[in-house]
Amino acid sequence: MLDNLRQDFINKTTQLVVVNRELEVVDSDNNLFDISKNSDITDFHPFFFALTTIFDEELQEETFFCVQMEVLGKHYFIDIKTYIGEDGDTLVLILNDLTDHYKTVHQIKQVRNESIINFNISQELNQQLEIQRSFKNKFLANVSHEIRTPLNSIVGFISVLENTEISREQLDVLHIIKDSSKNLVTILDDLMDISKIEAGKLDIKKRRFDFREFVEKLAKTYQIRTDDKRLSFDFELSSKIPRFLVGDHLRINQVIVNLLENALKYTHQGGIKFSVTTSSVNARRIPVTFEVTDTGIGIPKEKLDSIFDSFTQLEKRGLFGGSGLGLSIVKQLTDLLESDLEVKSVEGEGSTFSFTVFMGVSHNQKKEKVVKKKRDKKDLKGAKRPRILLGEDVEVNQLLMMRLFADYGAYSLDIAKNGERVVEYLDRFPYDLVILDLTMPVMDGLDAAVQIRNSSNKKVSKLPIIALTARTSQEEQDAAKEAGMNAYLTKPIDADLLFSTIERLLSRYKRKDKVLEISEEEE
Ligand code: ADP
Repeated sequence: MLDNLRQDFINKTTQLVVVNRELEVVDSDNNLFDISKNSDITDFHPFFFALTTIFDEELQEETFFCVQMEVLGKHYFIDIKTYIGEDGDTLVLILNDLTDHYKTVHQIKQVRNESIINFNISQELNQQLEIQRSFKNKFLANVSHEIRTPLNSIVGFISVLENTEISREQLDVLHIIKDSSKNLVTILDDLMDISKIEAGKLDIKKRRFDFREFVEKLAKTYQIRTDDKRLSFDFELSSKIPRFLVGDHLRINQVIVNLLENALKYTHQGGIKFSVTTSSVNARRIPVTFEVTDTGIGIPKEKLDSIFDSFTQLEKRGLFGGSGLGLSIVKQLTDLLESDLEVKSVEGEGSTFSFTVFMGVSHNQKKEKVVKKKRDKKDLKGAKRPRILLGEDVEVNQLLMMRLFADYGAYSLDIAKNGERVVEYLDRFPYDLVILDLTMPVMDGLDAAVQIRNSSNKKVSKLPIIALTARTSQEEQDAAKEAGMNAYLTKPIDADLLFSTIERLLSRYKRKDKVLEISEEEE
C-alpha cells in the first residue's frame, strides 16, 4: 500500500538525477521532467552550471531553495538537494517540486506586503489628520483668546456706560450692543470648548451638588424666557430624584442650556417641555434622563445625522443666529458624560432631544446652612475705605477698573503696571487686598503672587489676592491656586461678582487677622 501511495504522491513531486563531473546525466527517474541519459544537464537548464562548483569545492551536501524553472512553457518552483556520490565522481540531485507551496507563500507575502503598505499609508494619513487637528485646535484657541481680550473691554465699558446718564433711546441701543457682544462671547467660549474637547483637555469633574435646586433654577430661567416669547413652558422634575447628587453639574448645565436655547430659537408657536426623570430609585447610582421637547420647526429626516457636526446649520435657517457649534459641543459633552444624545424630530412639528446620565446619590441629603451676608454699600462707605492694589498692564483695562471702582465707591484703588511694581508698592504702602492680572510684562501675576506669599512682612504675605484673567482654563486656575491666590475671576469682569468677592475676602481676612493678633499677644 505504501508503495502505491509513494507512487501517487511522492514520485509525482520528486525526481532523482545522477550526473558526473562533466555534468552528463548518468541516470534519471524522470518522475517530473524528461532528462535524457548521457545528455548535458545544463542543456536541460542553465541553473545546473552551478554544479561544477560543488564538484570543485567538494561540497558534500547542498540545498538550493525555490529554484525557478520554465519547462515546456510551465513555471516550476523547485528545491534542489545535492549529494556527492560515494565514488566522489558523481552527484545525486533530488529535485522537489514545490510550485504550489511557493505560489501560496508568494500570495500570502503579497497580501501581507499590501496590508503593511496600507497600514503605513493609513498611519501617515492619521498623522497628517492629527497635525491638522492640533493646528485647528491651537488656532481656534489662540484666535478666540485674542478676540476675547478686546471684547472684554467692550462688554466692560458697556456696563460703565449703562450707569451713566443717557437717554432711553441710547439705553435701548446699548442693550442691543450688549446682547450682541454677549453672543460673541458665547460663540468664542464655544470655540474654545470645541478646541479643548478635541484636544482632550476637558474632563469631567464630579462633585456633590443640590440637583433639585439646580434644575429648578434652570426651569425658572426658561419659564421667563418662554413667557417673553409667548410660548408655553412645561416642567417636570420627578419626585423620585434625591436632592443631592454627585456629578459634573457644570457640563450637564452646558448641555441642557444648549438644548433649551435651541428649542427657544427654533420654536415660534406652541411651547417647550423640559423634563427630568429617573427609572430607578434607592440606588447609589441612578440614571437621570433629561428631555427637551419643542413644537418648533423640526429637522428634516435626512439632516438628522449631520446636525451634530461642527459648523452645521441647515441651509436658509442660519437666520436664527448661532454658530452651528452648539449641538456639536452637546454631542461631545454627552460623550464625555458617557451618555448618548438622542434626537427625534418631525419637520414642521417639533423635536425632542434627550440624554441620560448616571449620577451618584450623595450619602448626605442635608442642606448646609449658608449664612449669606447682604452687601450694603453705605456700610462700607461710612468706614475708612479699604485700599486695593491692582496689577494690570493694559491701559483700557486699567481705565475700566478705575471706572468700576469709582462708580462703586467703597474702595480706593491704586494701579501698578506689572508684577514687579506691585511688589514694590506693597513694600511702601499699606494695602488690604491685591488684584492681579495673570498676563503682565516684566513679572506676571503668578510670579508676583508667589513673591507676595514669600514676603518677610506678615502684613504683605497674608494679603488676600484675586487673580483676574481672560483665560478660562482649568490649568490656569490650578496654577493661580498653587501660587497662593485666594480667588479667580475671569474677564469680562462681572462687577457684582468682583465686588462681592472683594468683600468676602476682606471680611475673612479681617477675622483671620484678629485671630492672628490674639495668638501673637498670648505668646
Ligand atoms: P446653531 O448655533 O445654529 O443653533 P446648533 O449646532 O445648535 O447650531 O444646531 C445645528 C442646527 O440644528 C441648527 O442650525 C438647526 O438648524 C438645527 N436644530 C438644532 N436644534 C433644533 C431644534 N430644537 N429645532 C429645530 N432645528 C434645530
